[in-house]
Amino acid sequence: MNNSSNTWQQALAEAFTDLDSLCHYLQLDPKKLQVLKEYQQFPLKVPRDFANLMTVGDPNDPLLRQVLPLSQELIEQPGFSADPVGDLKALATEGVVHKYQGRLLLISTGACAIHCRYCFRRNFPYGEQQLASSKIQQAIDYIQSRPEITEVILSGGDPLLLNDEKLANLVKALNKIPQLQRIRIHTRIPVVLPSRITPDLLAVFSESRCSIIVVLHSNHPNELSAQVETACQNLKANRVNLLNQSVLLKGINDNAEILHQLSERLFALGVLPYYLHQLDKAKGTAHFEVDDNDALELLEALKQTLPGYLVPKLVREQSGAPYKHNLY
Ligand SMILES: *Cc1c(COP(=O)(O)O)cnc(C)c1O
Ligand code: SF4
Repeated sequence: MNNSSNTWQQALAEAFTDLDSLCHYLQLDPKKLQVLKEYQQFPLKVPRDFANLMTVGDPNDPLLRQVLPLSQELIEQPGFSADPVGDLKALATEGVVHKYQGRLLLISTGACAIHCRYCFRRNFPYGEQQLASSKIQQAIDYIQSRPEITEVILSGGDPLLLNDEKLANLVKALNKIPQLQRIRIHTRIPVVLPSRITPDLLAVFSESRCSIIVVLHSNHPNELSAQVETACQNLKANRVNLLNQSVLLKGINDNAEILHQLSERLFALGVLPYYLHQLDKAKGTAHFEVDDNDALELLEALKQTLPGYLVPKLVREQSGAPYKHNLY
């Protein structure tokens, strides 16, 4: 293991996993926060790089709110279920979610570097569905026998949690599939654990025959620190195309000024906004939901103040639909 890989694995090992330590670090009293006591089912996990960007003493900090387990998660709401997007039904073979034409998704690992409380995968047995090394060939065969598939999306969990060797092997195997043109990586890691973007990882990308697209997941301009900027610059310098997806979240980014700043900051980092997702209705996430009319009003405000290429597509995932549905 070289030094740079040590650094990110060390950073990951030092992430907050305990509510009291995180509150202590932020000088907050957990007793005043209506926290969820039984959070171990979907444990707390917050890298220090991300926690460093939170305002000390502010219980409503928009980054803290994304990761803080609150008792509101226990409120049952009709329509909120364990598999809101129908991914379990769309499993083609182990670790392969084939819902849309011409592209499919590989669940490359079940783990993430951060646990976002609004996540639609919070109740999903992804750990069991992830692509075991022994099943990679089966997935490759599935793609190879379908000439219409020209793009593979690595998702998870977070695919960049795989070590460099596993990732390099996967990218190499995909590059051997003749019809494949693009490898897309859906990841929150450049934003929450920027030290993961190591020279070895960049080499895996720059040596790929297929174009590499990294779709980041950032919800708030405060997440986009100088370290994140450096990670993005390094990705760009290695021929990686950068896009971003966000989730619209009540009390966090349901504000035209914040979304405007997010688009501007993303562009400054060389990233184009791609999707702004309406929340997937996963059990335990109802308190993050933004009403469709409010979402459309926010989009209208963005259209009025930003160039078209900085306005994300406002979409909702519909179980069984052939693509993500536009709200407008
Ligand atoms: C979102 C998603 C995709 C990619 O959709 P795009 O509209 O191409 O970004 C592919 N497969 C699954 C299962 C998805 O959820
Ligand atoms: S899959 Fe994405 S949104 Fe869900 S917990 Fe992991 S990083 Fe967060």
